[in-house]
Amino acid sequence: MGVSSCHFKARTGHTARMPLHITRLIFRQIAMPLREPFKSSAGELTERPVILVEAVDAHGISGWGECVALPWPDYLPETVDTVWLALEHYIGPLIAGRPLKRSEDVIENLDSHIRGHNMAKAAVEMAVWELAARIEAVPLAQILGGERKQIAAGVVIGIQSSHGKLLDKVARAMEDGYQRVKLKIGPGNDLEHLRAIRDKHKKLNLAVDGNCAYSLQNLDTLKQLGEFDLDFIEQPLAWDDFVGHATLQSQLETPVCLDESVQSLAHAETMRALGSGRIVNIKPGKMRGFTRTKAILDYCAQHGIPAWCGGMLETGIGRAHNVALATLKNFTMAGDVSPSARYWRQDIVTPDWTMDANGMIDVPWSQPGMGVEVNTELVERLTVRKAELTVN
Ligand code: MG
Repeated sequence: MGVSSCHFKARTGHTARMPLHITRLIFRQIAMPLREPFKSSAGELTERPVILVEAVDAHGISGWGECVALPWPDYLPETVDTVWLALEHYIGPLIAGRPLKRSEDVIENLDSHIRGHNMAKAAVEMAVWELAARIEAVPLAQILGGERKQIAAGVVIGIQSSHGKLLDKVARAMEDGYQRVKLKIGPGNDLEHLRAIRDKHKKLNLAVDGNCAYSLQNLDTLKQLGEFDLDFIEQPLAWDDFVGHATLQSQLETPVCLDESVQSLAHAETMRALGSGRIVNIKPGKMRGFTRTKAILDYCAQHGIPAWCGGMLETGIGRAHNVALATLKNFTMAGDVSPSARYWRQDIVTPDWTMDANGMIDVPWSQPGMGVEVNTELVERLTVRKAELTVN
């Protein structure tokens, strides 16, 4: 169902707002059993710890948010534990019981008192946007200004122990219908893997993610990536190295896409000013939520910088937020948003997020809020810690 036939209309157009009075903020950490272990340079997870935020207004209406932080500071500095501390001690008290005119006020308020803690801020900010959509009984995608009815899904494949396993995973992803395959690479796990894939799949939309594993000493290898007709190479160098990426991009055919490096509008401006990359991986969970992310997207569109929506191993709540955001027309490439079943044995939302045979995810335009309902019984069962801030 498209925008034009949507049941839910904002009372005074899609920018309508009403005062938000949040009387309860509930923080939960859950342990989500993963379908397959998740490996990173810091360790392996069989359960993903996830912090959820529930923002409740004076009428008992709830909006949900999710934090993208992992247990280790190996993507960006925040972790599940630093987020918990920031939520309880600094962020929660600045939002609960405070008068807010619009969802945008959340981040204005937080940023004027707290530096950093972007992932913690985003979890609360996005919960409040969801709450605002529920209060107005409109889809989250609508109050964000989105318009797409469906979004294209891409898949991420981790470093595999053999070419056989890698080719199996790629073949499976193509059968499933994914519109792009993004391969994690690192020094020694790059050119041969890509050659094996390209030999078999000439037309596949293929990209790679270096997750900061390279240095300029790997320049020769990185230049050879030009052979493989990649959509981009994501974040090959260190998370804070704009100058290094600019040196690299000036010598590479392959467009550099920055992920870890771009967490704010100022970072996107730095990237453009220095020529550190040509594409941005947008993740509201690392960019302090929807308000700041929308500003970055507008900036990218204004300057012809392609942008796409990344993923962070989210549950159905974070996935819903990414889907809603990905409906904005300023996204120009397929995202990393996958269906629930790829990661979870059982998702915490109903219905599950699914993808059709063409790799498209339907946007729930006929539902209010994020378009899926939280399975609160399951969430309670998975909860390992909980804190609540209540203000009358
Ligand atoms: Mg990345």
